[in-house]
Amino acid sequence: MKYDFLVIGSGISGATVAERLASSGKKVLVIDAKSHVGGNCYDFRDPNGICVHQYGTHIFHTNDKTVWDYLSRFTQWHPYTHKVLAQIDGALIPIPFNLNSIRQVFPPTMATRLEEKLVDEFGFGARTTILELRQKSDPDLKLLGDYVYEKVFLHYTLKQWGMKPEELDPAVTARVPIFVSRDDRYFHDKYQAIPREGYTAMIQKMLDHPNIELKLNTPFSAIRDTIPPEMPIYSTGSIDEFFDYSFGILPYRSVRFDFVEYAQEFFQPVACVNYPCNYDFTRIGEYKHFLNDKSDKTVISFEYSSAFELGQNERCYPISHPQNAELYNRYRDEAQKKFPNVHFLGRLGDYKYYDMDKAVARALALTEGKSA
Ligand SMILES: Cc1cc2nc3c(=O)[nH]c(=O)nc-3n(C[C@H](O)[C@H](O)[C@H](O)COP(=O)(O)OP(=O)(O)OC[C@H]3O[C@@H](n4cnc5c(N)ncnc54)[C@H](O)[C@@H]3O)c2cc1C
Repeated sequence: MKYDFLVIGSGISGATVAERLASSGKKVLVIDAKSHVGGNCYDFRDPNGICVHQYGTHIFHTNDKTVWDYLSRFTQWHPYTHKVLAQIDGALIPIPFNLNSIRQVFPPTMATRLEEKLVDEFGFGARTTILELRQKSDPDLKLLGDYVYEKVFLHYTLKQWGMKPEELDPAVTARVPIFVSRDDRYFHDKYQAIPREGYTAMIQKMLDHPNIELKLNTPFSAIRDTIPPEMPIYSTGSIDEFFDYSFGILPYRSVRFDFVEYAQEFFQPVACVNYPCNYDFTRIGEYKHFLNDKSDKTVISFEYSSAFELGQNERCYPISHPQNAELYNRYRDEAQKKFPNVHFLGRLGDYKYYDMDKAVARALALTEGKSA
């Protein structure tokens, strides 16, 4: 096949771009360095029939109907409402913190007083933040802000990012929510679901098009010399790698997932339990909750965060920091000057944390006008 476009990466960003181009009649070559499609969203059925997410728990959630409708062409959905618990002082508490969490961690009279003050101050159903509470003159509200900061946020951030929240980005602390309601949902989006046959099956279906040729186990470096210099490229790989790290390596946080199978039906009551203060891992994911998989065994993963090291581990989270943004912008400017035919996108190409819906929205926007 003679190709009109090259797409680097078969994750949800690359698959969306490739599908849109192919559906508009373009011939597309998709390559991926990995042995599987799906990128970070890759999942598989284990021998017990449990759908395991290889790169950690992935929950699809969006308010964007265009994205929801687009992906719904490639999958049916299993409705799933995500709830997260955090182990705090030995108890499992709903997070983000809300009135139910307050009832569980404080003595009854104090919990009632805090609830009344929150409802008086903000109104039932409102959302406030740790920062706002910590700035209040009322000692009870201030105490609540300090409590959530310390028990839920500070140590989790230290483990996850290897930095204090203030060192990372002061705006992050400002945004951590506390809900003045009894709504235990982690996400409040209109659409929340898991692809019924898994993310891999959905992405395979996106790529299953007569105009798309897919080559796995194929890093860009292995075929770079064979690509005509003027060929339009959509790259979802890390932008620093494209330039052989000439300005330096973009820092990421990495996560190691230690998978363990237990001969018991369930390990924990929900798919995700965070461990802000105890242990070295940040959280435990239990996969059978997502699609309600039936088995007398269960699979969980312990997540350990560390710095990304080239060739040693995977890039997971871009680190939001002015210095890193500066380095990224240098690469992006260089790309615009020297490779106007190469479009970078996705969590690695844009060096930006995207939820899956935002990654798809970005890919749809980039290919708009180039697709049917
Ligand atoms: C731990 C974790 C949990 C997450 N949980 C959620 C969640 O619950 N909900 C949610 O909406 N989002 C979640 N996300 C975000 C989600 O993973 C991203 O939105 C999604 O992966 C973005 O897809 P992508 O295609 O941009 O990147 P990727 O999935 O990283 O795909 C990039 C692909 O490009 C390939 N590639 C890279 N460089 C090259 C190269 N040089 N040559 C060939 N191939 C290359 C890679 O092998 C990979 O397959 C989570 C992210 C992490 C890290």
